[in-house]
Amino acid sequence: MRVVVRNSPTHTLAVLEDSEAVALRAWYGNAASSDDEAIALGIIRRAKVMNGWIECDCLNGGHQPLLAPIQQEHTFTLRRLTAKDVDPGQHEERPNHAPSCPFHVDKTAEPALFDRGFYIRPLARSDRTYIDALPAIPARLADVSGQDPSRSRERNDRPSRLGGILWRMLEKAGTNVIPPLQDDPDLKLANQLARLRSAARQLRVLRTWTLNALLSTWAADYWNPDSRWQRLLETSRPDWPEGLRRTGFMLLFSKSVSTHAIMPASCLRPVDVLAKVRQPLRGDPARRGPFLTLLNVDFQDDDEGPVRAVQAYAQPVYNGDTLFPVDSGFERDVSHLLFWLQRSLFDAAPELRIKITKPLFASQTPIGACRPDFVLEVAYKDHPPKRLIVEAFGTETEEYREAKEKTLALIKHLGPIFAILPDHFDKANAEETGRRLQEWVIAQIRGM
Ligand SMILES: [Zn+2]
Repeated sequence: MRVVVRNSPTHTLAVLEDSEAVALRAWYGNAASSDDEAIALGIIRRAKVMNGWIECDCLNGGHQPLLAPIQQEHTFTLRRLTAKDVDPGQHEERPNHAPSCPFHVDKTAEPALFDRGFYIRPLARSDRTYIDALPAIPARLADVSGQDPSRSRERNDRPSRLGGILWRMLEKAGTNVIPPLQDDPDLKLANQLARLRSAARQLRVLRTWTLNALLSTWAADYWNPDSRWQRLLETSRPDWPEGLRRTGFMLLFSKSVSTHAIMPASCLRPVDVLAKVRQPLRGDPARRGPFLTLLNVDFQDDDEGPVRAVQAYAQPVYNGDTLFPVDSGFERDVSHLLFWLQRSLFDAAPELRIKITKPLFASQTPIGACRPDFVLEVAYKDHPPKRLIVEAFGTETEEYREAKEKTLALIKHLGPIFAILPDHFDKANAEETGRRLQEWVIAQIRGM
C-alpha cells in the first residue's frame, strides 16, 4: 500500500510497510490487536496530515482501489472511494477491492443486520489475546460497525465485531474441527461449551478480567441479578477504565433468532437485543438455525440499571451437540454428508484418518487470502496428510456466484476441490453424490 496524492494516485507520498498494510486490513476486518489498531490509527493520521489518499494493493496490476482518511470529531476512519461514489463514468479508474480484501465494497442493498461480507474474512492472528469489549465511547479509531444512522451504509458492512470474537473462541476451542474418528471425539453440548470456556480463559477483556470470567452460558442468568455471572460483573466495576463501557457476555445455544431477539434453547423467554441481531446472509433464512449466539450486555445508559443485551451475533451451527459452525442450511447438509463420509470410510478403512475443518478465517495463498467452505485433511497410515477442499455452491444471488467464482481461483492453491450443488442432495442423486465423494477422496489418497 502507498499514500498517494489526492485525485492523482500515480504520485506517491509514502510507501507503507507490509506490516502496516496488514494492520490496516486487520483493523477494518475487526481482527486487530491493540498494536494493530495503534498502527492503523498512525497510518490514517499520517495520510490525513499529508492530505493524501491510501492506495490499496489487493488487485493484480492496473488501477488500485483508493481509501480516503477521514477525521470525525474524535475519531479517524477510512472512506472507500469507488466509482459509485461519484459519477460512475467519471471514475472508472477506481476499481473495487479484491473480494478477499476486507475493504471490499458490497453493492447490494440487503439490510445491514446480515453479515454481507461473509466470504471476506481476515487472516487469523494467533498472537492476539485481547478482545474488544463494547465499542469504547470516545474511541480514537471509529467503530465502523456501530449503529450511528448518520454514517453512510457502505461503512456499516465490516464483519461483526462480536462475530470476530466468537470465531476466535470457536477456533481456539477447535469447535470448527471434527477430529478423525480414530481419536474417538466426544461431541456433546456440555463438552463443547467446556472447551469454549477454556478458550475464553485465554482471551482477555481487561488486564485483570478474562473473557471467561465475564461470560455466562446459562440464559437464566440474564434475569437473575444474584447469579454468579451478574455478581462478577458487579465486582468488575472498579476495573473498567474510564471511557470503556462495563460489559458482560453470554454464549447461548439458540434454536432461533429474530431481528431483535434470540430464543435460548435452555429457556422459554426470549432475550431482547437492543441492536439488530447479526448473522451470515446465506441461503434460506428459515433453514439457517440452530445458532450459537454471542451477545454482550451493558447496564443501561447510566451503568446502574439491570443488564441489557446490546448486540448479538448468531452463528449457525450443525447442531447442539457439535456446535460445528456452518454458514447456511445448505452447508449444514454438506456437513452432514462429510460426517457420513468420515464414518463410512472409518468403517471401510480404519487406517484412513479424516479431519474435517470449517475455516473461520482466511488462509493465505500465493495470490491472496481466501476462505474455503470445508477442508478435509486425510492421512493413510504413516503417509503425510493431504489437504482436500469441499466447496458448497449454493444457488443464491448472482453476486454470490460472482464472488465465489473469484475466490475459487485462490482456493485452488490450497488443494484439489470437490464441488457440491444443492441438487446433489435430491433424492435421485443423494446416494450417487456420496459414492462420488468417497471415490474422489480415495483417488486423491492413491495419487499421493
Ligand atoms: Zn483492497
